[in-house]
Amino acid sequence: MAGRVLITGASRGIGAAAARLFAREGWDVAINYNSSREAARRLAAELSGLEVRAVPIRADVSDPEQAEGLVREAEFSLGGLDCVVCNAGIALPQQLLTDTKVEQWRRLMSADLDGMFYVLKAAIPGLVRQKRGAIVTVSSMWGLTGGSCEAAYSAAKAGVIGLTKALAKELGPSNIRVNCVAPGVVATDMNGHLTPQDLAALKEETPLGRIGAPEEAAQAVVFLASDRASFITGQVLNVDGGMVI
Ligand code: NAP
Repeated sequence: MAGRVLITGASRGIGAAAARLFAREGWDVAINYNSSREAARRLAAELSGLEVRAVPIRADVSDPEQAEGLVREAEFSLGGLDCVVCNAGIALPQQLLTDTKVEQWRRLMSADLDGMFYVLKAAIPGLVRQKRGAIVTVSSMWGLTGGSCEAAYSAAKAGVIGLTKALAKELGPSNIRVNCVAPGVVATDMNGHLTPQDLAALKEETPLGRIGAPEEAAQAVVFLASDRASFITGQVLNVDGGMVI
């Protein structure tokens, strides 16, 4: 059954692909963005053509007040929420832990982990009142395996998995499911810095022999949000072409 979903970081990449898939399935969508205003507005206009409500909402999720304001505005615009997708995230340049500046560590944690806490803290009371809902978080294969020269990112993404599992236990009795998607290498701006040689090496390491498309990660998000996953909670679904088996 279609419902009302807030997706953080939906202006580009996996979040934007998820917004399109939700809308195609009839969901109303709140499209959160931080800096990509035009992209978010264009996406909202595109989705409105599918006869669903699609509202772009600016908020930096790493700021607790903006995160709370985002949830309130999404609830107001869509008349409530049935699902929250915590997808917004950033990565740092690949570097040794010892070269990572304190400011970089804090910025990464704020965007990728703290932001999830702020958004969910604001959204959960509404879901609990309805006694129904779904939460989908977006981690990474590095949150499962750890990535060399990706310590801050790996730590934040492992935190996302811990948060997902804890919340699945906490919110199950309120009929709220909480699951996580852990993508491998997906062709988005986040990987724009990779050289053709890097990409070739990553493909080589991947059993399916290629990089994923944002829509492929988004399919898993929409599945876990939907009633098709009605008895699934606390799970991490890898969408990585077999990179982590
Ligand atoms: P992307 O193309 O770089 O898009 C990132 C999105 O997050 C943008 O919409 C951006 O919004 C938003 N965002 C970043 N910081 C934000 C903040 N503080 N507040 C609100 N929005 C913020 O990245 P992506 O590849 O789609 O990544 C989406 C998620 O998948 C991330 O959590 C990422 O860690 C995870 N992931 C990606 C890959 C991959 O290979 N691409 C692999 C594993 C996991 P603005 O542009 O409006 O600022």
